[in-house]
Amino acid sequence: MRIVLLGAPGSGKGTQSQRLVERARIPQISTGDLLRSAVAHGTELGRQAKEAMDAGRLVDDSLVLGMIRERLAHRDARKGFILDGFPRNLAQAHALERLLEGIGQPLDAVVQLEVDYGELVRRISGRRTCADCGRVFNLLTSPPPVGEGAACPKTAAPHRLIQRPDDNEATVAERLRVYDEKTRPLVDFYRARGLLHVINAEGSVDEVTRRLAQALGAPALAQRRAPASTVRKRPRAKRIVKAAHQRVRKPAKAKRTPGKAARTHRKSAAGSRPKARGKRR
Ligand SMILES: [Zn+2]
Repeated sequence: MRIVLLGAPGSGKGTQSQRLVERARIPQISTGDLLRSAVAHGTELGRQAKEAMDAGRLVDDSLVLGMIRERLAHRDARKGFILDGFPRNLAQAHALERLLEGIGQPLDAVVQLEVDYGELVRRISGRRTCADCGRVFNLLTSPPPVGEGAACPKTAAPHRLIQRPDDNEATVAERLRVYDEKTRPLVDFYRARGLLHVINAEGSVDEVTRRLAQALGAPALAQRRAPASTVRKRPRAKRIVKAAHQRVRKPAKAKRTPGKAARTHRKSAAGSRPKARGKRR
């Protein structure tokens, strides 16, 4: 399952991606993470990316695409992937399409998580961060706990909630406008290719997951645990079981003898108990 999720800030895209990762057992490939890791590991692409960033330039799309290509060659991406943070514009969408077609792994679906504009503003402006421990809360959806054990781990006092300057209503409105303007061409691009699914992302997390799973044609993903048929291929599981069995076979045999002896011992002890009691009486 090869997917791109599109969703404005506050649409719950992160939460839904995380669920897909767990239930479909496919990796989420974030271009931000790829960049950081390539730079940290000093790969050739990472070195070039760092050079651009140090010079205050944007990292070239071709570098990011190179990193995506390398990442998709990893074993865990064979069953699919969720792309995060890419593409962000039409040129990147075209380039990604060429790349994926070149490696024979074209996208299966692009899902747009749609949330009413007013609701998005409400959600984002409810965000609060603790100035002491950095934990993120949402006054609407995940308010700071009250009562025992609710204290800030840093100060042992209640969390000191602050609103990030860019989470106020005016800034949020502007961020959403920019997001919408940038994303619309992508939406049109994928709609024209018959890949786009628009789902209503309002309501509970479970409800949204159900709609997402339906859109992906994999309703089983709405369940907490995927049924056996969608869990990793059987051969692999068998191999693990066999290996585990082989590992324990010897020690198990060695244990069985003292076990048996103990059992026999217990039996005889039990058998002699009445006698012993009789003697005492
Ligand atoms: Zn705190």
